Amino acid sequence: MFDYIIVGAGLAGSVMAERIACELNRKVLVVEERNHIAGNCYDEMDPTGILVHRYGPHIFHTDHEDVFRYLSGFTEWRDYQHHVLGFIDGVKVPLPFNFNSMEKLLPEGLSRRIQDKLLERYNYGSRVPILELLNDKDPDVRFLADYVYRKVFLNYTVKQWGLRPEEIDPEVTARVPVVLSRDDRYFTDTYQGVPREGYTRMIQRMLNHENIKVLLNTRHSEVLELRDDKFNFMGREFQGRVIFTGKIDELFNYSHGRLPYRSLDLQFERLDTEWFQEAATVNYPNDYDFTRITEFKHLHPAESEKTVTLREYPCKHDEGNDPYYPVFTDESRMMYGKYRELAEKIENLTLLGRLAEYRYYDMDDVVKRALEVFEEEVR
Ligand code: FAD
Ligand code: UDP
Repeated sequence: MFDYIIVGAGLAGSVMAERIACELNRKVLVVEERNHIAGNCYDEMDPTGILVHRYGPHIFHTDHEDVFRYLSGFTEWRDYQHHVLGFIDGVKVPLPFNFNSMEKLLPEGLSRRIQDKLLERYNYGSRVPILELLNDKDPDVRFLADYVYRKVFLNYTVKQWGLRPEEIDPEVTARVPVVLSRDDRYFTDTYQGVPREGYTRMIQRMLNHENIKVLLNTRHSEVLELRDDKFNFMGREFQGRVIFTGKIDELFNYSHGRLPYRSLDLQFERLDTEWFQEAATVNYPNDYDFTRITEFKHLHPAESEKTVTLREYPCKHDEGNDPYYPVFTDESRMMYGKYRELAEKIENLTLLGRLAEYRYYDMDDVVKRALEVFEEEVR
């Protein structure tokens, strides 16, 4: 009946389903445990008329023209450049930390001296990871690095990860570098925006194909059974390919233990005021238990006298919440490796996406990966 079973109707599963249905003209069943498609990109209209991202703010940004072109087949875009402010010592300054932020917080002379020294070392516009800057020998540059480390990174990272910046994968803090220019944008990718009618609508268009059947409210284990490295579907051995985009440890019944994730307690609020804050997102590294507040009207303008905000409170992932961010440690990488070995024994299994590959993928990484895996493993 079906040539492919895809577990998960997030971006990874949906791109794969679309490719298989359109390019190969084969039948796909997509099994999704939530009551909606689109995974963590899911957005929906709030009663205020404001489009709200239910699993946290999602801004699309990429330098991959092929990814942008592919997605543009399913949506028009609202041109949007993401701006983030950081609440530091009672002042809101642009993030990533740049020359404008420096001038708002440090005395003029000191700020100019540090900028000159930075530009002796790096080109104007460079984006330097904070952990690299901390190793600089010059006392002024070190002063800045220590300042930014303490005011922007330390407490935010402890809240977000339960670990200090030097204890997590350096690539994570490198996502938000120190910027040696006055560019106040959070991302500098060539293509940036939000789908004009939202991510859910975009993904709905991908899945809207006669070869694709989507089964919501269904966990993979309700239709698939894994026994002796073979999948059974509805009581019979499944000869087609299974593309799994859920948690790899769950697929193998946590036999090597639980892979660690961070989760978020997401607190939405509807407010009887037209605007709440001056940028889409304001980060609070040092104050409060939440990391950031997002106001969705900045992403999707709406004619409403109300506004909707979201506060993100990081927490450990357990059975009562969703896995959002993989926590990379030597131990978790080793555990993932063991699951990968189990997966390799199953001939007709493909692992794809943030959870199955245990990677900190952005949306464009997931689409790029899905398009590659389709060409290399599936086609
Ligand atoms: P998911 O979206 O997690 O989809 C997996 C799907 O599989 C889910 O729907 C899940 O319910 C389903 N599933 C899992 N297990 C099972 C099972 N056993 N049976 C059935 N179904 C199952 N990226 C950006 O590019 N820009 C951003 O601004 C951005 N902001 C983010 C903010 C937050 C708070 C978070 C958490 C992520 C953000 N991302 C952002 C990343 C983005 O969400 C991911 O790159 C993308 O959603 C990954 O898609 P996926 O399909 O791999 O995973
Ligand atoms: N970060 C920080 N302070 C900030 C913003 C980011 O310390 O104000 C660190 C933190 O460790 C965070 C990482 O940089 O987890 C990546 O930030 P990003 O904004 O990319 O996180 P995401 O949007 O993926 O949650």
